[in-house]
Amino acid sequence: MGDEARGSRNGPGATGLPEQGRRFEYAPAPESREIVRLRERYDLFVDGRWVEPKTGRTFTTIDPSTEEPLAEVAEAGEEDVDLAVRAAGEAYETRWRDLPGKERAKYLFRIARALQERSREFAVLETLNNGKPIKESRDVDVPLAAAHFFYHAGWADKLEYAFPGRTPRPLGVAAQIVPWNFPLLMCAWKLAPALATGNTAVLKPASTTPLTALLLAEVIEEAELPPGVVNVVTGPGGRTGEYLARHPGVAKVAFTGSTAVGKVLRRALAGSGKRLTLELGGKAANIVFEDAPIDQAIEGIVNGIFFNQGEVCCAGSRLFVQESVAELVTRKLKARLATLRVGDPLDKNTDVGAINNRAQLEKIRELVRSAIEEGAEVYQPPCELPERGFWFPPTLLTNVAMSHRVAREEIFGPVLSILTFRTPAEAVEKANNTEYGLSAGIWTEKGSRILWMAERMKAGVVWANTFNRFDPSSPFGGYKESGFGREGGRHGLEPYLDLEGGAP
Ligand code: NAD
Repeated sequence: MGDEARGSRNGPGATGLPEQGRRFEYAPAPESREIVRLRERYDLFVDGRWVEPKTGRTFTTIDPSTEEPLAEVAEAGEEDVDLAVRAAGEAYETRWRDLPGKERAKYLFRIARALQERSREFAVLETLNNGKPIKESRDVDVPLAAAHFFYHAGWADKLEYAFPGRTPRPLGVAAQIVPWNFPLLMCAWKLAPALATGNTAVLKPASTTPLTALLLAEVIEEAELPPGVVNVVTGPGGRTGEYLARHPGVAKVAFTGSTAVGKVLRRALAGSGKRLTLELGGKAANIVFEDAPIDQAIEGIVNGIFFNQGEVCCAGSRLFVQESVAELVTRKLKARLATLRVGDPLDKNTDVGAINNRAQLEKIRELVRSAIEEGAEVYQPPCELPERGFWFPPTLLTNVAMSHRVAREEIFGPVLSILTFRTPAEAVEKANNTEYGLSAGIWTEKGSRILWMAERMKAGVVWANTFNRFDPSSPFGGYKESGFGREGGRHGLEPYLDLEGGAP
């Protein structure tokens, strides 16, 4: 289906917005979807081949901005997972573990280059299947995914330098389970360190966003990775995912997703001897002091919560503003919100795209309803949302109390709760008053205050005068219910290595 079809469904033009509600202050700049060659049906990628699922079943994956089907995707059952784990185990023993690091590096470089060469295709496909704005998939997801492969290619033949005096050895087959919010990027975060350290992988993408993981499998096939080194199985998390994680042939489980499922896996794997790392939810605080560069902070706050529609584990969903500037910051935020462009994710001007799935949309609606019932006030700039698809407007909540559900539970949507504080100590106390501990942002001109705050924040990442900055060399991960283990940097290699001796 081309732009024309999209236009005819939604009225003339390609913004995806109904004609009546279109806003005319900018011209639509649609990215063509012609570059994506969608298959009607996607099989499983096992042992270097595309194989039909033994279940004989498929599920439909859709474009969340229109609810139009994109493709049918194989549903892997237990037998399929068995085959994938067996292929990964054989590849580990015969084709990958003992390959010199510099040879493994070559494959990682090839994947990184292929991601760059096909970056437009990956970006458009990511946007179609996830609903995120094309400018984000184009400028963030795909380049960062390539950067992860480049970065880890550099480690593959230098592992002994990362852990001086120790003998780093791989673990075996890694089961890698990823969520729908950064479908390709999370695959890169998982696969690149696993492969660089000499492990093989069975990857399971989220059920609503399997397509870029499958395109990555195509790239891996073209890069001529030895068969079985990377396998991709698609299917429902509760069945395919859990069966994979529990599989006796798996030595290491790396999971990114909800805290609820993280807990299920932690219990399921207790005593199994498998290594486990969990990257789970968050409820990040963005803390703005009265001496902050306010306009810069406004941009950081907006990016912190509206980037990827707020469907980001480290989204700055709680804004703590020093009382003396609370009114000013709130006023500026409202003005800035009114300039955000919500609509067709393939439009290069779009700032806020579609919510990935209906269940997530319902969760956002429910938490905002609860906030209103608990006494919060809602601000939403006027914007017409498309009739079909999953949409939620950028939202500010004021009059929020720390006890409100919206201040405690992860919302994973474009909704910012504004709270206030008077002293740095109060800011630390309130920011840390959460079950989560993934990230935080501090906005102040005072360097000494940044250090004072950062030492006291119970968060895996603390940004100062910026937010949502990622680099493959910076370890990322959480405390408390945000999980454990780090991804990125030298620390991110450790969960894939036996540093004590004893791995087969
Ligand atoms: P989810 O936990 O429902 O699903 C994540 C993945 O796990 C999917 O592939 C899913 O199919 C699979 N899965 C579901 N149930 C499973 C089970 N019982 N056993 C094994 N696998 C199972 O989460 P989601 O809805 O896909 O993603 C949103 C959540 O992920 C949010 O809570 C967010 O905070 C979190 N997240 C965290 C990070 C991080 O780095 N900390 C990054 C992205 C998302």
